[in-house]
Amino acid sequence: MAKEELTCSFCGRKKAETNLLIAGLDAHICDRCIEQAHGIVLEETNESDTKSLAAELILKKPREIKEFLDQYIIGQIQSKKVMSVAVYNHYKRLLQKTTENDVEIEKSNIILVGETGTGKTLIARTIARMLNVPFAIVDATVLTEAGYVGEDVETILTRLLQAADYNKEKAEKGIVFIDEIDKIARKSDNPSITRDVSGEGVQQALLKLLEGSVVNVPPKGGRKHPDQKFIEIDTQNILFIAGGAFDGVDKIISKRLNMQAVGYSASISDHKIEKDNLLQYIIPKDLKDFGLIPEIIGRLPVLSYMNPLDEVTLRSILTDPKNAITKQYEKLFEMDGITLKFEESALKYIVNEAVEYRLGARGLRSLCEAILTDAMFEMPGTKTKTLSINKKYAVNKLTKSTLKKLKAVS
Ligand code: ADP
Repeated sequence: MAKEELTCSFCGRKKAETNLLIAGLDAHICDRCIEQAHGIVLEETNESDTKSLAAELILKKPREIKEFLDQYIIGQIQSKKVMSVAVYNHYKRLLQKTTENDVEIEKSNIILVGETGTGKTLIARTIARMLNVPFAIVDATVLTEAGYVGEDVETILTRLLQAADYNKEKAEKGIVFIDEIDKIARKSDNPSITRDVSGEGVQQALLKLLEGSVVNVPPKGGRKHPDQKFIEIDTQNILFIAGGAFDGVDKIISKRLNMQAVGYSASISDHKIEKDNLLQYIIPKDLKDFGLIPEIIGRLPVLSYMNPLDEVTLRSILTDPKNAITKQYEKLFEMDGITLKFEESALKYIVNEAVEYRLGARGLRSLCEAILTDAMFEMPGTKTKTLSINKKYAVNKLTKSTLKKLKAVS
């Protein structure tokens, strides 16, 4: 008797017509049906993703986004407000069900201008955490035009894909923070270079991503390789936040303000200009004068600035945010059963030193680390269960540390 030929229980194809036929208890399934079923599963989860995103956004109004940011970021009120609105609008746009004649809401990519260590990355990261979307940080300085040594701009999306555990749909709703965007500005004072490898070419390449297009992304990064499989990523709904210090832009702003003052003498000179924080007057034209191409500026329509951190803000950063540096150390000591306490004199001293090192908030952490290293090494396992840090203790530890030696050299 001829053996009955196996068939797929779903589509009825004979075994010979399939690439693969998998046996179950009482049934079989072929490779095509598996793929089709997988597609249905993906579609379903995608739909529920959009629904949960909607549910989340109903809960988070701009005011609430800012309140969330307030827990982690001290000061920077203007930027927090601008970012809350931009992010809210961005995700509102994402949820919009467009019909043919509808008003199309454009993307609100953001550019943040401010000195290093003032919280640009922190704001972007905190927003991503709040929204529970994939988040990637990339450094613009490593990017180069295709064909040059360095990384192609597409690798930005590789990072996002990695952050999304290679879930394409999730990555397409993620946030990318492009740090040091000012470093790819066109250098107009360098006419000898016929091709501006690190500047304009990269800006042009970046434009494609910012505009919202389908980009072929090498999933493992690196150079495009003819036989590497690509994943197509649509950047339409990815929120890009760019940050940069734009060293020297204050001179451009000052020059513009002076010119305006001459032109419309009354209006501007009546308005008192805060000379030591000129960044607050920044407008897109200043970025163009700095060397960003107008198309890039156009694709980063939300512009905001970060204030330099003064002593009061630094003091607050030390103890007030939800995961403040001192709270982190207290927790570390607590895990060894030790109660750590910073006295006000020590906190003031740390702030003064941070100002002197000119490292912004970044300096605070290195200083605390230098002050506490000996204690963290010696105390665990001993009988001493309390440690109070006063100014004398801090000065003593810091004088011995390499940080102080560095300062003496500089
Ligand atoms: P930037 O991106 O502007 O160079 P970061 O966001 O990386 O600076 O800031 C470095 C660190 O300094 C952060 O991880 C954070 O601990 C601290 N910090 C900076 N600015 C603030 C702020 N406004 N509020 C709270 N912490 C801050």
